[in-house]
Amino acid sequence: MNNAKNNHRHHDHGVHGKHEHAGRRSEPVKEHKHHDHQAMVEEYKRRFVFSAILTVPILILSPSIQEFLGFKLEFPGQLYVLFALSTAVYLYGGWPFLLGLVEELRRRMPGMKVLIGVAISTAYLYSGLIVFGFPGKPFFWELATLIDIMLLGHWIEMKSVLGASRALEEMVKLLPSTAHLLKNGSVIDVPVEELKPGDRVLVKPGEKIPVDGLVVEGRSSVNEAMLTGESKPVEKKPGDNVIAGAINGEGSLVVEVTRTGADTYLSQVIELVKKAQESRSRTQDLANRAAFLLTVIALSGGALTFLAWQLLKGDVAFALERAVTVMVIACPHALGLAVPLVVAVSTSLAARNGFLIRQRDAFERARELQAVVFDKTGTLTKGEFGVTDIVVMGAHDKEQILKLAASLEAKSEHPIAQGIVRAAEKRGLGLEDVEDFKALPGRGVEGKVNGRLVRVVSPGYLEENGMAEYLEKAKHLLEQGKTVVFVLEDGKPLGAIALADMIRDESREAVRMLKEMGVKCIMLTGDNKSVARWVSEELGLDEYYAEVLPHEKAEVIKRLQERGLRVAMVGDGINDAPALVQADVGIAIGAGTDVAIESADIVLVRNDPRDVAAVIRLARKTYRKMMENLLWATGYNAFALPLAAGVLYSVGILLTPAVGAALMSLSTVIVAINARLLKL
Ligand code: ADP
Ligand code: MG
Repeated sequence: MNNAKNNHRHHDHGVHGKHEHAGRRSEPVKEHKHHDHQAMVEEYKRRFVFSAILTVPILILSPSIQEFLGFKLEFPGQLYVLFALSTAVYLYGGWPFLLGLVEELRRRMPGMKVLIGVAISTAYLYSGLIVFGFPGKPFFWELATLIDIMLLGHWIEMKSVLGASRALEEMVKLLPSTAHLLKNGSVIDVPVEELKPGDRVLVKPGEKIPVDGLVVEGRSSVNEAMLTGESKPVEKKPGDNVIAGAINGEGSLVVEVTRTGADTYLSQVIELVKKAQESRSRTQDLANRAAFLLTVIALSGGALTFLAWQLLKGDVAFALERAVTVMVIACPHALGLAVPLVVAVSTSLAARNGFLIRQRDAFERARELQAVVFDKTGTLTKGEFGVTDIVVMGAHDKEQILKLAASLEAKSEHPIAQGIVRAAEKRGLGLEDVEDFKALPGRGVEGKVNGRLVRVVSPGYLEENGMAEYLEKAKHLLEQGKTVVFVLEDGKPLGAIALADMIRDESREAVRMLKEMGVKCIMLTGDNKSVARWVSEELGLDEYYAEVLPHEKAEVIKRLQERGLRVAMVGDGINDAPALVQADVGIAIGAGTDVAIESADIVLVRNDPRDVAAVIRLARKTYRKMMENLLWATGYNAFALPLAAGVLYSVGILLTPAVGAALMSLSTVIVAINARLLKL
């Protein structure tokens, strides 16, 4: 029975989502796994088959069925045989519902199990009383078919749920269990768990990559579609990163292990998806409240129906049958599943397209976004700076200026820094030693070279420090829309370095898509105004903010929110983190810094701004599906409840409890199928 208890609890997670989550965190519940679900499907099937077989003799022995089919079969003690068969169906087939009834009452959360439990128990006890002499008409066959249909409904529904969460299971299946370890010149196959960072593994053509790692030998194209949604295979050569779960193409690779097991990117994605499925959802709260309300309506509606018919007709059996049908049909079953099923489908759909949803409610808010604020460097542009010009302002020549700047920038992770270092390397310039290096966020860097204080800073820094006249000498470069930094030695400008970045092709389309959806596109950058204006005009942005210091980025977001806009921030850097937190929806893009990812609600795996539009579209579609499902789940009660109560009895329309159960199950199946139809 332990098993049944587990099953029942799991099964309920839809109806009592909130409650269950609290429980799930405290006990290390393994319920959410595939095999538990599978076991539950099996259990309902077993109980259904057993009950259905016993239902056949119950039907044959029931006088009303005999009358309907026009034959007669009577023998002494027939009623006792009927009673014994029905008791078996009630106890074995009804067991999951009876157990659920007790459980729900204990938690003071009456839900559908209470309804079904009360309905079948009423029918059973009343019929039992009649067998032992109480006057009236038993309804054994109605009881048996009701239980059959309920079990069948649960069985089908469990299978649909299983299908909806299958996408996640498919991701888990991507991880291979063994790897070819290269050790002392030979290849041995070992379980993936035994690998350690630093080990080297061989990946043969067509195999799955077993670990996150670095290619050290070989060339191949690798398909990362299941992880990033990028359908084209990606070329990999020594020095490139590969991720566990990706499929190797035509070449063979030697990979040095960097991360294994739970640390791998894919495992973390799976963890994220699971958490997102469990995290609070406003729509789910709404559904839970509606389900509770419906239970109350069903119980009191059942009682009321009984009383009304008792008064009108004075037939206990008839009144009870109507009451039972009302309770069965009003089961908030579909309602409990309406939202969780859509959540499961949409989160896995998101993950497969390279969007990781970290905060479910933020994702739900994404459908209402009115403005998207993009960071410029690395988000709208490629963030790959090339040095284009060097202006001399003091005694040093161009190469000396570049060399000094590169010496400092070698210690910075900024895209500008990388551009300067690359340029110095290309010209074969060596680097000087740097002491006391310091980053000036949003302004530049500083450090001591040969005892002199050297700085590489923004035009803004010059203005703030009364050196605006030097900007004149680089004015022509700024006007060309280039990024310009100044190299200072002991506070005196030595020269300026101009760099150019490239706008991503995808940015243009992203802006067009967002505008089409009625979302304003805004850019936020620490770079100078001329670059900002140029990029903004190129992309057709609605607004831009330039020379914004890191702490001001969050303030700009706040001001936009004060204008009444619902704002998303899209960024990648450490300096974007406060703005990501301030925004209604924070979106970290690409291989952003860990800080940005930690601050974001949604992480886009690819460096593609078009995915922002796709996320908003998915959020809108998800919401629409949820609303459709809520409508399906509640709407049918509007006509089914009065029908069940026997309102149309006078014109000859009457529902039996089993037909009520079939209708109730049908609405659940519709909801499950509708959820699976969600597409991007
Ligand atoms: P963004 O908003 O484009 O990511 P940041 O806030 O990181 O820009 O930087 C703003 C400006 O500060 C840059 O345009 C540049 O002028 C200057 N800056 C920042 N970091 C560096 C650096 N490492 N070297 C030189 N200049 C820098
Ligand atoms: Mg940036």
